[in-house]
Amino acid sequence: MNKLIYLDNAATTAVKPEVVEAMLPYYCEKFGNASSIYSIGQESKEALENARQTIAGTLNAKTEEIYFTGCGTEADNWAIIGTAEAYGNKGKHIITSNVEHHAVLHTCEYLEKRGFEITYVPVDEKGLIHPEDVEAAIRPDTILITIMFANNEIGTIMPIAEIGAIAKKHGVLFHTDAVQAFTHLPIDVNALNIDMLSASGHKFHAPKGVGFLYIRKGLKLKSFIHGGAQERKRRAGTENVAQIVGMAKAAELAMANLEENEKKQTALRDHLISRVLTEIPHSRLNGDAEHRLPGNTNFSFQFIEGESMLMMLDMKGICGSSGSACTAGSLDPSHVLMAIGLPHEIAHGSLRLSLCEDNTLEEVDYTVDCLKEIVARLRAMSPLYEDFVKKQKK
Ligand SMILES: *Cc1c(COP(=O)(O)O)cnc(C)c1O
Repeated sequence: MNKLIYLDNAATTAVKPEVVEAMLPYYCEKFGNASSIYSIGQESKEALENARQTIAGTLNAKTEEIYFTGCGTEADNWAIIGTAEAYGNKGKHIITSNVEHHAVLHTCEYLEKRGFEITYVPVDEKGLIHPEDVEAAIRPDTILITIMFANNEIGTIMPIAEIGAIAKKHGVLFHTDAVQAFTHLPIDVNALNIDMLSASGHKFHAPKGVGFLYIRKGLKLKSFIHGGAQERKRRAGTENVAQIVGMAKAAELAMANLEENEKKQTALRDHLISRVLTEIPHSRLNGDAEHRLPGNTNFSFQFIEGESMLMMLDMKGICGSSGSACTAGSLDPSHVLMAIGLPHEIAHGSLRLSLCEDNTLEEVDYTVDCLKEIVARLRAMSPLYEDFVKKQKK
């Protein structure tokens, strides 16, 4: 195959042509500032409010509960720091999990240095949070529970309805980082008792650099970005109209095909999982087989390094991701794989292949064929594997 095979949709996605098309008029023609009173300004304002309505509709939220941000990370920071600042006089305790994205974990660490106490609820060996552990962590001074909707590395879908019910019962605010789940799973913020929800455009075929935070009406969340009166004085900065329009278009497309996309991806995912586990010895699936994002697979292969696998896959035109946080300049294995109890050497040989609805069976089969060959080649060079084979022969 000469074509690029993109299996890293959990990292970012390709922008859909329909999305680009929806955005284009807002660059050279309808470029007005949404705060200006002349007609191209007002056209921008209208496009902005239509986008807000579209996004709100996908979550069963009210239009005025959607606030556009510069990315998912900003939405997470705003929800957590904004809550801490607005409700810090009521209490200084926050509950989260030990498998959150760094946008949540590092924000919690930031607050820890400023007098807040954070409880990191653990996950089980499949990466699932147990709601009773969240409930047990609640104290009289708990002001916020922030638990991700679905994990970006191992795809585990968390028991959000149960956690939402617990938060409501105890009068604690509930934020969820839904960046991996939004438009991939149905979400109703009212049925699930979610008070704040973060999402990011580039994880569902909109451009990078745009996201939103849903804030339940009545919450006194403090602003995070200070300046002009945009976003009803809660998020300053001239609105990124084109990108926001693109994000709404992408959400609309994804929601219209949600069930179909889910079915298609789940079938591809399960085919990929079953071929890898049956055809590649000493491999394992990380995460829960059942409560799993439709597009997520995450494997560990014993005796080899994830980075070497990635480089060899890249030479075949296949994009995937490994379990180690090498972006942070370290070769420490991912905190998520550590949290589910993988030994270092197994976590080091991890590979995440994340699908989208545009991937094909042919691509998946070609990838498994390549992977089999790559794993065998790397093991042939691995002293660890040589040791293992010698010991087995004894
Ligand atoms: C990608 C991601 C983010 C960050 O979103 P950006 O828009 O890239 O800042 C946060 N949380 C999760 C779970 C993610 O997958």
